[in-house]
Amino acid sequence: MTDSKILSANIPTLYIVPTPIGNLSDITQRAVEVLTEVDLIAAEDTRHTGKLLSYFNIHTKTFALHDHNEQQKAQVLVEKILEGSSIALVSDAGTPLISDPGYHLVKKCRQAGVRVVPLPGACAVITALSASGLPSDRFCFEGFLPAKSKGRTDKLRQIEKSTATSIFYESTHRIQDALKDMLEVLGPDREVVLARELTKTFETIQGLPLSELIDWVGEDDNRKKGEMVLLIHGYREESSKEISDEAARTLAILAKELPLKKAAAITAELHQLKKNALYKWGLDNL
Ligand code: SAM
Repeated sequence: MTDSKILSANIPTLYIVPTPIGNLSDITQRAVEVLTEVDLIAAEDTRHTGKLLSYFNIHTKTFALHDHNEQQKAQVLVEKILEGSSIALVSDAGTPLISDPGYHLVKKCRQAGVRVVPLPGACAVITALSASGLPSDRFCFEGFLPAKSKGRTDKLRQIEKSTATSIFYESTHRIQDALKDMLEVLGPDREVVLARELTKTFETIQGLPLSELIDWVGEDDNRKKGEMVLLIHGYREESSKEISDEAARTLAILAKELPLKKAAAITAELHQLKKNALYKWGLDNL
């Protein structure tokens, strides 16, 4: 049975404890204290968490709780808490449950009347949003984009007309394919922010219209590397301004002879329209 000033006296509890997403100084003092005081730490990867614990000189026992055993082991942990233990849940990085294990455990704890105490802390989606320059009043975190192009484009079509900022986690080996699919669905004008290696030495936050962001990423292999978050500006009515029949006809004729980009640029000049809007219209309609 745990009894300390840090932990709520004598109330067996599950603590949700965020850990750093890169910079080890981003752990809170309260997180270190809770991890030190609890009876057990449920960790996504005990070896990975072991390194963090030894850095902070924490000697608490760990227990593996990952995607593959969570449903089965959550009950064991609930029983341990009901018997009087206090447990902390951590993932490999950031806030547990945010694209990480923990949902089943928290749900079972709440169903069993076990107290769940969340600690605030590092989380890549919030860290990225706060510096993105995109509207932060309404946003939708969508987790990881599907790995295959068909699933990815389906997902992107679902958020295409969403006026809130959409946020995805993405992995380094799929970033270019994901950006290409975004270009196809959202068009070249949509502003997208790539936030990579947050809190680490090579932290980069770059926001550009999609067509330019793709070029920017392609210019340097390092820009595709590391951990990354993609943030998409919400849909704006003016970017889909009506293309007149006349402009559509010009574009269609030119596009037979020229690459669509060039055809869109000439049509834009002739009809005083935005070339990126025409390019997107051409992709969708020609
Ligand atoms: N629970 C974590 C959180 O609170 O952000 C996220 C875990 S999820 C398995 C890992 C993904 O989060 C990475 O693939 C990447 O998309 C994003 N991520 C984690 N750390 C990051 C960082 N330092 N910079 C950018 N993205 C990061």
